[in-house]
Amino acid sequence: VGSKRILNREHLRGLIAEQEVQFYDRTANSRALFEESSKVLLGGVPMSWMNKWIGGYPVFFKSATANRIFDVDSREYIDFCLGDTGAMAGHSPLSTVSAITQRIGLLGGITTMLPSADSVLVGKNLSERFGLDLWQFTLSATDANRFVVRLARQITGRGKVMVFSYCYHGTVDETFVVLEDGVTRSRAGNVGPSVDPSSTTVAVEFNDLDGVKKALATGEIACILMEPAMTNIGIVLPEDGFVKSVIEAAHEVGSLVVIDETHTFSAGWGGCTREWDLHPDFLTIGKSLGGGVPFGAFGITTEVAERINSQTGVDYVDTGGIGGTLAGNALSLAAARATLLEVFTKETQEAMNALSAQFASGVQRVIDGADLPWTISTLGARSEYRFTPVLPVSGGESAASADEDLDTYMHLFMANRGILMTPFHNMALMSPKTTLEDVLFHGQVFEEAVSAIAWI
Ligand code: PMP
Repeated sequence: VGSKRILNREHLRGLIAEQEVQFYDRTANSRALFEESSKVLLGGVPMSWMNKWIGGYPVFFKSATANRIFDVDSREYIDFCLGDTGAMAGHSPLSTVSAITQRIGLLGGITTMLPSADSVLVGKNLSERFGLDLWQFTLSATDANRFVVRLARQITGRGKVMVFSYCYHGTVDETFVVLEDGVTRSRAGNVGPSVDPSSTTVAVEFNDLDGVKKALATGEIACILMEPAMTNIGIVLPEDGFVKSVIEAAHEVGSLVVIDETHTFSAGWGGCTREWDLHPDFLTIGKSLGGGVPFGAFGITTEVAERINSQTGVDYVDTGGIGGTLAGNALSLAAARATLLEVFTKETQEAMNALSAQFASGVQRVIDGADLPWTISTLGARSEYRFTPVLPVSGGESAASADEDLDTYMHLFMANRGILMTPFHNMALMSPKTTLEDVLFHGQVFEEAVSAIAWI
């Protein structure tokens, strides 16, 4: 029955208008700061995407600790956004803060061009989690992805990258493509591409193994860059065995596979790679590992390392296109060592996953009870509700099911009651500090939001 229900859009717009007024009334200091910042910052924000928040301007925050954010209007939020995974460890986790403070205070030294001993511990921990042998560190997941794409092209001698339509892997030129009518096209809104990315990249729909094989058969693909489950066009889970089959198909024709675990690390201690026993050639990750301090990493297999080392006439250490002066700095590594070894323990990550399952079952109960044409999907510590009766199986399907009005309404309703969800999505991430009470409170607010909606 639920799938046949039609939303009363006019009524919904009325609800949004009501929520906008509430938001306006509760955020006077943020609004004043936004007016000031608009005089000196492009778009009034430190980085353009901060304008993605609903309500016309972002809430300015004063402090954040554990899974709480306090804004400049003295309002408190339960944070399910967690810096879009950058703060998955919770805000300012004690172990990380202590390691950072020691590093920059007692020991001294933030960046030097020399390695610190923490790098060994971080490399070892990442190897144990994900199974890849050797590691390099960057300041972001974007950089990790950019570098492995270069390395893959270099060692295979092939020119193209394959990605899944509507993927997001950071600001990596090659990845801004979608598949439309069977053709790879530059994604709408792509800013000033140096070349049309359809000349560097082939897009395939997620869960389309035949499409993958067809792209691979051309022999042009250096690597497939993929999230093991898509998380940037809503969560799109792979069908059973899909990722393993992609890796197998790639290896059959000499293409390499990069698994980007930046978001899917929510699946557990070793991300989807460990959960699903995946054996990629490269693994990239960023965001959460430094507990909020900029840090990214890429791992490679011994075999890939041998191929890199056997290349001649290539400059890996200076101006060859791989690097970053502050990459691998002592501050990032101290933060990552503490976050990986002391915050993201197996027990903690299991507890986060259990809470996420409770979050999802609470939402599902409301969906069932109100007979809503909606669904929720979960990937470990991350859950996301979707305004569609059937879970999408590809990026294209997922993009087509977006509902901007409902997104706006739910985000505003939540924010007005002290809950932050991830903008761009209706996604909730659990941190080590998220409690069952927080999850239950969300469920209650979700139910209130839903009960105000009118259906035709
Ligand atoms: N990979 C994935 C899967 C991501 O979701 C993102 C960011 N949302 C990135 C890479 C890039 O991360 P960053 O912007 O921190 O470089």
